[in-house]
Amino acid sequence: MLTTTRAENAYELALQNFDAAADVLGLDNDTRAMIKYPERVLTVSVPVRMDNGHIQRFEAYRVQHSSARGPGKGGIRYHPQVTLDEVKALATWMTWKCAVVNIPFGGAKGGVTCDPKHMTQHELERLTRRYTSAILPLIGPEKDIPAPDVYTNSQTMAWIMDTFSMMKGYAVPGVVTGKPLNLGGSLGRNEATGRGVYYTIECACEHLGMPLKGARVVVQGFGNAGSIAAQLLHAAGARVIGVNDSTGGVYNRNGLNIPELMHLKALTGKVEGFPESEPISAEDLLALDCDILVPAALENAVHADNAARVRTRIVAEAANGPLTPAADRILEDKGVFIIPDILCNAGGVTVSYFEWVQDESHLFWEAQDIYNRLERVMKTAFSDVLKIRQYAGHRASGRSGQRQGNLSVNTERREQGTERKTRAGCESVGSHPAFFWGRPARDL
Ligand code: NAD
Repeated sequence: MLTTTRAENAYELALQNFDAAADVLGLDNDTRAMIKYPERVLTVSVPVRMDNGHIQRFEAYRVQHSSARGPGKGGIRYHPQVTLDEVKALATWMTWKCAVVNIPFGGAKGGVTCDPKHMTQHELERLTRRYTSAILPLIGPEKDIPAPDVYTNSQTMAWIMDTFSMMKGYAVPGVVTGKPLNLGGSLGRNEATGRGVYYTIECACEHLGMPLKGARVVVQGFGNAGSIAAQLLHAAGARVIGVNDSTGGVYNRNGLNIPELMHLKALTGKVEGFPESEPISAEDLLALDCDILVPAALENAVHADNAARVRTRIVAEAANGPLTPAADRILEDKGVFIIPDILCNAGGVTVSYFEWVQDESHLFWEAQDIYNRLERVMKTAFSDVLKIRQYAGHRASGRSGQRQGNLSVNTERREQGTERKTRAGCESVGSHPAFFWGRPARDL
């Protein structure tokens, strides 16, 4: 049985993480009030004519958490359990994530409460186009740039771009990222999140003195992020011993053949039934004895009730919010090294940024150029987070985990954006000891 505790409110957990980092920084209440909450929240009703001829109404959202550092950036999720609070949490994490990798975007996110697995392509196209027209006043290359997330893909982005461009009367590729290549997409975008996850795992192994070759890996969620991370880890000589998706899991203590498993998933939509493997339940998969656990599905996969069963040295959060704060504490007490989501999965938004730059400048880069730039961004961010973690450790009397270091980096970078904005208009937010204050933009 697949179990997660999505009943735990992701947005409340995101606010708890904010407060923990703000406490470590000693952030004053005025600054907290300015940077903690979403700037803009839109709820829309999306009526769609289904293939049976009837109209079905879907509830959908777009949330812009912060524009302090640049246009909003964030994916669009299609899932039956999408709620406004989930989208607010995801938008908040996007702000922090863009700041951690130091790209000039704020945070945003969109979601439609629907069941895409039970909708036809025609229904999905009509839903996407109607949703796009409903959020049209909010989005645009200078304002807010959507991208794919769970159960949306490059085709979804093509429909959004086309609908937006029809309204404008000319092609606007910069309105979305994660588009097909022939519409202005970027090489390397499809695999960017998994590749970024891989780079941060490489850094963590180096930091811990743990060889990647031969390391036992478990991946929860064999979608875009999880399967690409698994493929790169497999290619680097790690043994991916367990993998699952929403329908079931597979296990082989000697390692699964990941390219062949990807082939099966592409053919059947499932990992279940893979030869030379045995089935494994979702709970047992998370409890497998391993070196690297990659939760790459949805929020709150590891929580207070199952964290004690997790046996790993590294958790690489490919998904957004897969560990609750309670799980964080349990795993840190066990000495697990956590690579937090807003660092670990930031490869996707980083290459989205590259795509947006290419679209806006009408000049397209080679794949190797993109990989090199991505590797530099991810590895620099990893090292920044480690440095500030040590700083946070000196300031905090209590807990000072990797996540607090991570949030501190982005809170300070975001404050810097807020300061720029407020100097132009309203009051200043005051100053804080900030490692990255006044630092020149990173050479990407
Ligand atoms: P996806 O739709 O490609 O894949 C999701 C996978 O998770 C599917 O294989 C699905 O079957 C599986 N899944 C769903 N529920 C599950 C459960 N309870 N147990 C096990 N598996 C389950 O989505 P994705 O783009 O790979 O996104 C996965 C996570 O990564 C999300 O949290 C997303 O927000 C995050 N993320 C994705 C990107 C990106 O660029 N794709 C970027 C940053 C973060």
